[in-house]
Amino acid sequence: MIDIQFCGICHSDIHQARNEWGNALYPMVPGHEIVGTIAKVGSKVTKFKVGDIAAIGCMVDSCRECNSCKDGEEQYCERGETVFTYNSKDKQGNLTWGGYGNHVVADEAFVLSVPKNLDPAASAPLLCAGITTYSPLKHWNVGPGKKVGIVGLGGLGHMGLKFSHAFGAHTVLFTTSASKIDDAKKLGADEVILTKEEGWAAKHAGSFDFILDCVSADHDLNTYLSLLKRDGTLCLVGVPEKPAAIAAFSVLGRKHLSGSMIGGIKETQEMLDFCGQHNIVSDIEMTTYDKVNEAWERVIKSDVKYRFVLDTKSL
Ligand code: NAP
Ligand code: ZN
Ligand code: ZN
Repeated sequence: MIDIQFCGICHSDIHQARNEWGNALYPMVPGHEIVGTIAKVGSKVTKFKVGDIAAIGCMVDSCRECNSCKDGEEQYCERGETVFTYNSKDKQGNLTWGGYGNHVVADEAFVLSVPKNLDPAASAPLLCAGITTYSPLKHWNVGPGKKVGIVGLGGLGHMGLKFSHAFGAHTVLFTTSASKIDDAKKLGADEVILTKEEGWAAKHAGSFDFILDCVSADHDLNTYLSLLKRDGTLCLVGVPEKPAAIAAFSVLGRKHLSGSMIGGIKETQEMLDFCGQHNIVSDIEMTTYDKVNEAWERVIKSDVKYRFVLDTKSL
């Protein structure tokens, strides 16, 4: 059992609580960026002892037997038995409840260790925003010699910038917010492109190897596809409410439109260890239970620098 201290506020909490993805199970307790201390351990637990700092991300169980689960990609469980940390049902059919709370109980196979040198509150967003950007950047071999775009400077986007920069790629941020340009450069962007300026896309057509789209609202994907080189990839991690329209002409240049969902437990631990080695955490604003609604409204207005973390001891 983990005594929860901190929980990051992900835009997915808002999408799901407001049933924007049509899959809400109420009553819902959101929160899947959980950091706390181990309060109790079962008799068979070997990885953790009482008092350790531990973390839970977006999943707490899966079938553990299919090819994806065996490959350590439990989020893609082929039997559809991934148990998400909240808004999901466990193997007994009970609703799972997330990190905007006091305690969480999970099998140690789905519990992560946070490197001791990292600030626990600022580590919480690594559990979703961190792994969701780390995993596709690794999968598509982002590194030196590659030109990489990150679309949207929110919770996911700012972690995408940090990782792409740490992996050595030439990193470009696309933002709708002029006020974020200076911060983006400090966070790891080599270039920042303001997508509200007339004709911004033409100058960059056909020049990107990989673009990671972290946008939570409807926007035109055809423009981003036009920025890819032949064989380049646009990977969606943002999940807007409505489906996107794609013109066939946008992908005829042998371009790839793909997507990625969080990351497996093994890779999440690898990401946390990488963050420990490179001193990477999230840039956070702390908030309290009485201000959660205000925090959500600011997330929707793209007005957070760059992830809210709930102090779960604030009740
Ligand atoms: P966030 O903090 O709200 O960031 C989203 C960013 O998108 C904003 O900061 C803004 O960046 C940009 N944006 C917002 N509205 C826009 C619009 N109308 N047009 C263009 N850009 C706009 O959200 P987040 O927590 O990072 O999550 C982002 C998305 O990823 C959400 O849909 C979330 O559900 C999803 N998600 C997916 C996974 C997965 O496994 N695939 C995991 C976690 C989250 P600028 O101000 O820079 O333009
Ligand atoms: Zn999330
Ligand atoms: Zn499985």
